[in-house]
Amino acid sequence: MLSVVRKSAGAGLGGHRGRRIIVTATAALLLLPIEASDAGWLSDIFKGSKSNKPPKHSVAPKQAAEPRRAKPAKPAPSPKPRAEKLAVAKPAAPNPAAAKPVTTRCEPPKFRIVIDVGHTAESEGAISARNVAEFVFNLRLAKRIEAQLKADGFAGTRLLVTEGKARRSLVTRVNAANNLAPNLLLSIHHDSVPDKFLEDWEFEGQKRHYSDRFSGYSVFVSRDNPDFQTSLAFAELLAREMKAQGLTYAKQYSQPIMGRFQHPLLNKETGVYSYDQLIVLRKTKMAAVLLESGSIINREEELKMDSDEHRNVVSHGVATAVKEFCDSRWAILGPL
Ligand SMILES: [Zn+2]
Repeated sequence: MLSVVRKSAGAGLGGHRGRRIIVTATAALLLLPIEASDAGWLSDIFKGSKSNKPPKHSVAPKQAAEPRRAKPAKPAPSPKPRAEKLAVAKPAAPNPAAAKPVTTRCEPPKFRIVIDVGHTAESEGAISARNVAEFVFNLRLAKRIEAQLKADGFAGTRLLVTEGKARRSLVTRVNAANNLAPNLLLSIHHDSVPDKFLEDWEFEGQKRHYSDRFSGYSVFVSRDNPDFQTSLAFAELLAREMKAQGLTYAKQYSQPIMGRFQHPLLNKETGVYSYDQLIVLRKTKMAAVLLESGSIINREEELKMDSDEHRNVVSHGVATAVKEFCDSRWAILGPL
């Protein structure tokens, strides 16, 4: 069953004052799941589906999504030529999730990381408790991360902003990432909840939806990524840095209440989950990690997500993780 379309046009929260965020019915459909009503907050353009039932309204890319193959997580293949700067040592353990992280080395000026802005201007992702599109949050945070990485010497950092509606943008996004062929892709998102958790409230005279039940960041990898080991290595560093910044990870994805969106928690200390079907993680040919920076459907956390202070915290966490990814000595010695 598809959820109701939340259609509205209203002012944003503090940081968006004066900017009217127009949420079209089409954009609101991005709230809709591929399969069912409680799946909509995670992008349909990033998510695989086991269903063949066509969406009634949504442009969710069923055809583009593929069911997870019934196979164990596999060791990554040999490093690709474009990743020659990464001296990747892959353990031969049969279960990569239980394996030790790989050791990576790279030269910051030559290291190429793509910061992928989740969703598009046409398909904006989740809608916050105060009616601001997730894409707005993603774009601002991704730009801040890009600036931080460049300031820290990672001159090859690129921002990936995709256009178009869900299905087309899925193909466009993955192709663009693969054509850029970076060493690493980091996809930036902000979290919401399944529809069943939504409650009503009024903001600036308009009925809105919220859920204060969950909060926190989360880091996702796909065990179907062709370079899962490297993906996991960076995810571990990123999650550790997010925690080191004083942030708390979202626990709910490990809980049965999330239904089909319960995911294996690979690191219960830092909040690394596997979400194998996410297209942007499994169809990209490079190591790829997705960061849900925090919940924008949580009324208090939305305000935090809207702050420069939080963007700076996350950006420093990402930059530190990338430095450590390139040289583990950085964590001990500081900038080399
Ligand atoms: Zn998203």
